[in-house]
Amino acid sequence: MLRVVILGAAAGGGVPQWNCGCTVCRAARTDQPEIRSTQASIAVSAGGEYWFLVNASPDLRQQVTATPQLHPKAGALRHSPIAGVILTNGEIDAITGLLSMREG
Ligand SMILES: [Zn+2]
Repeated sequence: MLRVVILGAAAGGGVPQWNCGCTVCRAARTDQPEIRSTQASIAVSAGGEYWFLVNASPDLRQQVTATPQLHPKAGALRHSPIAGVILTNGEIDAITGLLSMREG
């Protein structure tokens, strides 16, 4: 069974954007933290043991930290269930997260 985890669903910059004072971004910073979102990305897996990321946004480190399916398995000093990254384009918002994976 194909499994899909949505890592983020916002446009470039996420919500709130660091330099935006619109109604949505102001609400995300104050009374509606539930609308905060990282940049669009998903993780897919055929069986749940190994995962492929679709794009690697600048928010990748935060997305991996917040997603238990992508954590190292218990008892492993160095491990990642992330088997690969599928890039759909070469835009900076799709590839910058690769720098977070440099230790791999
Ligand atoms: Zn905004």
